[in-house]
Amino acid sequence: MGSKYFQGVMMRYAAGVAGIIVTFGNFVACGSQLYQVSVKEDFSPSEQVKAANPEMENPDSTLYGIHAPSGWKELPIRFQFGKDMNQEQKVHFLAAIKTWEWAVGKNLFEYLGTHEQTNGDTFVDLYSSLTDEVNGQYLDANWVKTKKPNYVLATTIWNNGPDYSLITKADIRFNEEHYIIGNSLTNFATDTKEVVDMQSLALHELGHFLGLAHVDAEVDSLSIMNPSLFIGEGLTSRRLSRGDIDRIQLVYGCEGNSCDVDALLEEAEDMYSNEAFEKTAALWLDSNAPSLRAH
Ligand SMILES: [Zn+2]
Repeated sequence: MGSKYFQGVMMRYAAGVAGIIVTFGNFVACGSQLYQVSVKEDFSPSEQVKAANPEMENPDSTLYGIHAPSGWKELPIRFQFGKDMNQEQKVHFLAAIKTWEWAVGKNLFEYLGTHEQTNGDTFVDLYSSLTDEVNGQYLDANWVKTKKPNYVLATTIWNNGPDYSLITKADIRFNEEHYIIGNSLTNFATDTKEVVDMQSLALHELGHFLGLAHVDAEVDSLSIMNPSLFIGEGLTSRRLSRGDIDRIQLVYGCEGNSCDVDALLEEAEDMYSNEAFEKTAALWLDSNAPSLRAH
């Protein structure tokens, strides 16, 4: 990337955006400038949610970084993609699901295909997507409707049951208006849009979707739930920390080999480097959506 690009990025991100952490260092990964974007604003727990787990923000508690300690009321979580999600976005989103499922050793999700005719823009505002029965993963091309700042990458919203420690329904909305959300190892930025790695972003948003809150970098610097994410070409954060695994197992338990977290972490290297999650995700997508098969 040349300096023209660099200046463009500087102008876009420096322009009155207080909530963004911009780190322009000497790091250059695959031609892209390295910078971190705050994802703090993607998650807004209500006062009732905070009251349901008073330990959510206490780093000394095992319940730290968890907003819904009882998880989903019903498993598996049935979900659908909005109509505009492309094949690559779906595979990388599903790979993020497979990563969380691997961490607990069991299936948490059931894929129900596409929410026909519906995308993020179908809904009049952010919270109206919660009024239907679908747990949707949507692209928004009209981000202003969410009333979130332009730089916010995505957002997860959810309903609780009468008991705020339980989740009954949730949606994820991705800011497609201001970012290219895809595979950051193969997608390119444009003059106006930076690339955001779908798998990395989905891993973070799915953490919220499953009941996790933000985790400060000082507490666990490797957590995918840190309230900032590296974005740009070639930049990914597709891994869970030991703390992420501990926290998700606290909510959903564990089965089989996943209960041995040391062994799981050893296996992790192999899983990530062999792109095992993407391969499983591609098969999952194929088996559930025959109309998407290439002929
Ligand atoms: Zn977040």
